[in-house]
Amino acid sequence: MKVKLPDYHLHTTFCKHAEGSMESYVERAIELGLDEIGFSDHMPVMPEPQFCMGYDQLPIYIDRVRELQIRYESQISVRLGCEMDMVTDRLDEIRDIIEKNSFDYIIGSIHYLGGWPFDQKQYSHVFETDSIDRIYERFFNTIIEAAKTGLYDITGHIDNIKRMGYRPANDMSGLYEHVAEVLKSMDCTVEVNTSGIDSAAREPYPSLEFLRILCAKGVPVTVGSDSHNAESVGRYYDRVSEYIKEAGYNHIAYFKGRKRILKPIDGTNQNKEVNDE
Ligand SMILES: [Zn+2]
Ligand SMILES: [Zn+2]
Repeated sequence: MKVKLPDYHLHTTFCKHAEGSMESYVERAIELGLDEIGFSDHMPVMPEPQFCMGYDQLPIYIDRVRELQIRYESQISVRLGCEMDMVTDRLDEIRDIIEKNSFDYIIGSIHYLGGWPFDQKQYSHVFETDSIDRIYERFFNTIIEAAKTGLYDITGHIDNIKRMGYRPANDMSGLYEHVAEVLKSMDCTVEVNTSGIDSAAREPYPSLEFLRILCAKGVPVTVGSDSHNAESVGRYYDRVSEYIKEAGYNHIAYFKGRKRILKPIDGTNQNKEVNDE
């Protein structure tokens, strides 16, 4: 089955926790019929430097993506992206990386709450000792704070606080609405990240409930697999368009030079690209 969608969330060995050549990711995407991909590796601002590239590697990463862009030009569009940890005490550094490099898009992500790596199993005992609802509130307030910096284009895995399978007792829809309003006001896109299906949460990020709220508030959507190996490229894409449409969306956001273009889902009316206002 050929799926005309982009996969904007791909990691590489530069981050030291992914595997396989970058070529193998591109070739897998071509095999699946994806129309565009983007590498979005972890930038050198992660609180745990062993999980991201170093500053010395950044220009090499960029050169590699540019090289693949040219090599595969006739088969697939390759974009230069990055996943930026929105660490609030390192905003100057983040701004500097963004200004000095011409990315096609920037994914802003949260992997730590006050230094706590909540998405790593060995630290999940905190969910047992603290209130899950309070942790969720803190997480989404951090998402809001990050979005308000206006530094990035796409909010990465927007509800990955559920990754370890811990769910809040209370209804979070009020908070989701608030997050959606902030994203809309900051002109931020959200990604449907299919890696959530392979986590203990057993569903994409965001949940359908949350995605419906984001759609209702007019926040554009894009999609990514969060692959750390070639086999995961485009994972669950056979059902992701349905999921996105079920939430109410008709268009998918594509990025080039940090400009967003909305295209109809499934490539129908390919020639009728909608210029985003
Ligand atoms: Zn990673
Ligand atoms: Zn991430």
